Amino acid sequence: MLKKWIFMATLFGGLLAFAGCNSSPKQEEQQDSQTQTEEEQGFKWVVDRFADKRVLHYRIPDFDKLSLQQKKLVYYLTQAGLAGRDIMYDMNYRYNLAIRHAIDKIVKDYQGERNGADWDNFMLYAKNVWFSNGIHHHYSMDKFIPAFSKEYFQSLLKATGQELSEEVLTAMFDPKTDLKKVSLDPSKDLLLASAVNFYDPDISEKEALAYYKPIIDAGDKERPLSYGINTKVVRRPDGSIGEEVWKIDGMYGPAIAEIVKWLKKAREVAENEQQKHAFDLLIQYYQTGDLKTWDDYNIAWAQTTSGDVDYINGFVEVYNDPLGFKGSYETIVQIKDFEATKRMEVLSGNAQWFEDHAPYLPQHKKKKVKGITYNVVNVAGEAGDASPSTPIGVNLPNANWIRAEYGSKSVSLGNLIEAYFNAEGSGISKEFAYDEEEIERNEKYGQLADKLETALHEVIGHASGLIEPGVGTPKETLKNYASTLEEARADLVALYYIMDPKMVELGLMPNLEVGKAAYDRYILNGMMLQLRRIEPGKDIEEAHMRNRQLIAAWALEKAMPEGIITKEVRDGKTYFKIHDYEKLREIFGQLLREVQRIKSQGDYKAGHDLVENYGVKVDPELHEEVLRRVAPLNIAPYSGFVNPRLVPVTDENGEITDIKVEYPDSFVEQMLEYAEKYSFLKVRQ
Ligand code: ZN
Repeated sequence: MLKKWIFMATLFGGLLAFAGCNSSPKQEEQQDSQTQTEEEQGFKWVVDRFADKRVLHYRIPDFDKLSLQQKKLVYYLTQAGLAGRDIMYDMNYRYNLAIRHAIDKIVKDYQGERNGADWDNFMLYAKNVWFSNGIHHHYSMDKFIPAFSKEYFQSLLKATGQELSEEVLTAMFDPKTDLKKVSLDPSKDLLLASAVNFYDPDISEKEALAYYKPIIDAGDKERPLSYGINTKVVRRPDGSIGEEVWKIDGMYGPAIAEIVKWLKKAREVAENEQQKHAFDLLIQYYQTGDLKTWDDYNIAWAQTTSGDVDYINGFVEVYNDPLGFKGSYETIVQIKDFEATKRMEVLSGNAQWFEDHAPYLPQHKKKKVKGITYNVVNVAGEAGDASPSTPIGVNLPNANWIRAEYGSKSVSLGNLIEAYFNAEGSGISKEFAYDEEEIERNEKYGQLADKLETALHEVIGHASGLIEPGVGTPKETLKNYASTLEEARADLVALYYIMDPKMVELGLMPNLEVGKAAYDRYILNGMMLQLRRIEPGKDIEEAHMRNRQLIAAWALEKAMPEGIITKEVRDGKTYFKIHDYEKLREIFGQLLREVQRIKSQGDYKAGHDLVENYGVKVDPELHEEVLRRVAPLNIAPYSGFVNPRLVPVTDENGEITDIKVEYPDSFVEQMLEYAEKYSFLKVRQ
């Protein structure tokens, strides 16, 4: 069920991405249509804009309402998170740290000409690398090819007293070397085609799977450990395969020692005994690398629900590993959003109703839906794989058996979503909506539609459905299509219910106009808008994007002959106009039943056909049109964030008396500050 972490789910983004989600997407999307209030205009939401990206601010609401002890807890947890920042760079690619350190020093110290095309291209490259925690695009996975020459770069190195090996320079400049961070192309060896640093470069997919097979076979089937989640697979001098464990006295040790140092401080100001116990286990896990301890920690963490402060810290999401074993380092520090959480409890309280009314075959419904929780939190700090590009929702832990037996925590990152909304104008809606009615509906209900879709996707969607007895997990049966189909199921659950009068009855939305806004946005995004993130001539590769096109294209194929949706062309511009929202809902219901059947029965052939026929190929004409229409809007497809800076205030004895929040307004300065404070790993040359 696990999936890549980057993406999110929102409508114009389609369902925002969720991190975690047994699938976790990271935010990539665009919001539009929200106008700023006067108060919000006083806060500068957009900090930087370059390439296909923009960097935003987020605020920490209600920080001052926390007790001093809670503020300290938040502060220590953000420090623990940042302490591991280097780890993510090294995980993404074996030369990333060498390259980043060189870049950091040049940007900080270079005394020569800091103007002109070469310098600008260098700075663009630097920002791209910082944004992606490495030299590959965080979303497309493609390597950034510098627009400056190797000679120019070498002159910058020399001028700042640095040197890089020929191997590192080749990694940077050779357009044939390590082009893809993560390749999911089933026609190639997934590991040899991927640059990610979880396996030694010469280890093949076949070898890695052969290494893990006996380990998995010998393990507990009911409650499997997270094999390989905290190790790098390496080739020993004798040619055999082994693992290097990420722990305090192992690989990444110096950074992990710092993480542990701050976690110990956090432990001292824990909000309750359960939270303290979870910290003890996490510290123990970082000290030993023991996978049983990792499970124990996750159970303790999942059961710690009473505090106002929560966090994610560890090697968590497995999307960056083409084989799905290795956890990427990440941290998110969260403060509960009380009001929104209360509203959403309504949804989880009715989980069984949703399961009972799902359009599944009867044998694919859960008699008892368990462990659903949903919380809206506000982020106080992020690091590793969650920063600068971030998920906007998280659903953890990932282990299915822990989720089933102990429950899971699903959170929506409220202040980040708010920042996305506020950073956007209404340009996209005006360009792509069919008529005024659609624009107005979107302005009025678009934000609520996104929030509810996200909630339904996470709380109801990912928890729903039953695998038939004797059928393996979707990861086993559906293989590389499992993530896309899991996301499709979750999105379809959200789409199916967001047009259900039950949502109005529950007081979650004022009327079904919200659902209509959701449908307008979904079809538009799935068919058109998301194509702006694909280069001409390329296929869709990312699971969440595949799932969105799959759903939109399949629905369109069924809806168009009936006149439920029509494709209108006006002044050379394409629009999709929905005429009957109720009937479209039925179509989503049919697809939902089929996707659940595929998952429940492990029908690889049907899953393969659905994804390949509807989710992968791009209509080249429509694609070209989208790029042409979006270009004048100058919108960045991807967003990331600078973190607020938490600054302890101390008295004459050095005791912390308060924690102040500052909002840095330069992405470059934050990256240099982090390099200065949190570079704990040795550079691989
Ligand atoms: Zn999801």
